[in-house]
Amino acid sequence: MQHIKNYINGQLIEPVSKTYLDNYNPSNGKVYSYIPDSDGKDVDLAYAAANAAFKEWSTTPKDKRSYYLLKIASLIQKNLDKLALAESIDNGKPVKLAKSIDIPRAAANFHFYGTGILHYSSHAHDMEGSAINYTLRQPVGVAGCISPWNLPLYLFSWKIAPALAAGCTVVAKPSEITPMTAYLLSEICIEAGLPAGVLNIVHGLGGKVGNAIVSHKDIPLISFTGGTVTGKHIASIAAPMFKKMSLELGGKNPNIIFADCDYDKMLTTTINSSFSNQGQICLCGSRIFVERSIYEKFKKDFVAKTKTLIVGDPQNDKTRIGAIVSKSHQEKILSYIELAKTEGGTILCGGKKHSAPGELSEGYYLEPTIIEGLKYDCRTNQEEIFGPVVTITPFDTEEEALMMANSTIYGLASIVWTENLTRAHRMANAIHAGIVWINCWLLRDLRTPFGGVKASGVGREGGFEALDFFTEPKNVCIKL
Ligand code: NDP
Repeated sequence: MQHIKNYINGQLIEPVSKTYLDNYNPSNGKVYSYIPDSDGKDVDLAYAAANAAFKEWSTTPKDKRSYYLLKIASLIQKNLDKLALAESIDNGKPVKLAKSIDIPRAAANFHFYGTGILHYSSHAHDMEGSAINYTLRQPVGVAGCISPWNLPLYLFSWKIAPALAAGCTVVAKPSEITPMTAYLLSEICIEAGLPAGVLNIVHGLGGKVGNAIVSHKDIPLISFTGGTVTGKHIASIAAPMFKKMSLELGGKNPNIIFADCDYDKMLTTTINSSFSNQGQICLCGSRIFVERSIYEKFKKDFVAKTKTLIVGDPQNDKTRIGAIVSKSHQEKILSYIELAKTEGGTILCGGKKHSAPGELSEGYYLEPTIIEGLKYDCRTNQEEIFGPVVTITPFDTEEEALMMANSTIYGLASIVWTENLTRAHRMANAIHAGIVWINCWLLRDLRTPFGGVKASGVGREGGFEALDFFTEPKNVCIKL
């Protein structure tokens, strides 16, 4: 069985401890590879390599850095099928989704920042002829990048690409639950000829490797995507060390449907925004608020359409709902469904495990679940479940919809369906979220700021915001 290796100083190497963790295939519940059980010693090696490479990489001309990023982008694209299959096996997501979204987006991330860095510039401030100020934007140093399991290569590359483009060197940790495509990325970086030490990938547990990166005294910057509780823990360590931090955290996003929406378009998109990637996208709209006059119609149509979604084998191109990423996450989602029942919810469809036949019988499948009859402020409607589970709730007025939408501690994304332009602007203005999608979902322009407010995070990724994050501004004032 395959042993994944760390990528440190341009080499694929074993963890210092020589110990490994089991890596499960969620579609059949079986161990299929081994992950380095790295610790602080491996992080120290990775930091030493990244620090040694920093001087040269940070002064490498932008077009040369761009060359490496574009090379990596094209190699990801060239290996699309292999990477998509690996992502599907590691994560449980339908291979069709990995092929159409995850892997193309990982290539796009490298391509975007490989070209974006060529257009990045800084400001000058003229003091009416007496002096001139110009701002240098200098790479911060060795960047610590930590990412989650739901969109493994997509989110990993969303951090690494801008960091490298900006001239930082990197010590990165993918989720221990889905390490495979990060490992394949190390092979791609070697093939692309990326100089040794520029990117270092250390595999292992969050509590060991992640913690060692966050608390490393010489890593001045942490870019983290993951759960709010982990983000809080990371902030408690990094903030007193005055590290620069970007925290992309959890969400409990509202999907607000007005009676005047384009109904068919809304229904098709709402199926996607509810259940894509088994509902394990931080941007999924898990709380659906529907104007009362169309509530019963929506309920009937939404339930009927959800029942047609094929659950099961991620390798089957017809599958819409693959496996949940791990057994423990499957159990967490099921416990929320039980909680919803005790809170007075009615399960309109799903609500239980899905049994796949034959070799997949031990896989972690769940039926897509719709719940109604819950109060907007109950735990099911306030806490992030992060699975194929949505609630539907009627509303009578715009004010009521807004109040319920804004009632959680989170503020990542939101969706509004209406053909009334004035109302769309009014809602966009009043919703507490970093992202508002009007009459669409997951439509992404990589130049736009990405991130959340309240407990959904601190800072923004995307576009030049990420290049600003990985660089430090320095003002130079020259008296004329
Ligand atoms: P976690 O917070 O559990 O883990 C995220 C990463 O942090 C993993 O690599 C994890 O390692 C690591 N980690 C865990 N503990 C520590 C620690 N003490 N110190 C440093 N690193 C640590 O999140 P999940 O992987 O479960 O991802 C799901 C969450 O991510 C959801 O809440 C979701 O909303 C959020 N998310 C947010 C996005 C956004 O853009 N705002 C996008 C995607 C997801 P390990 O896996 O080994 O534990």
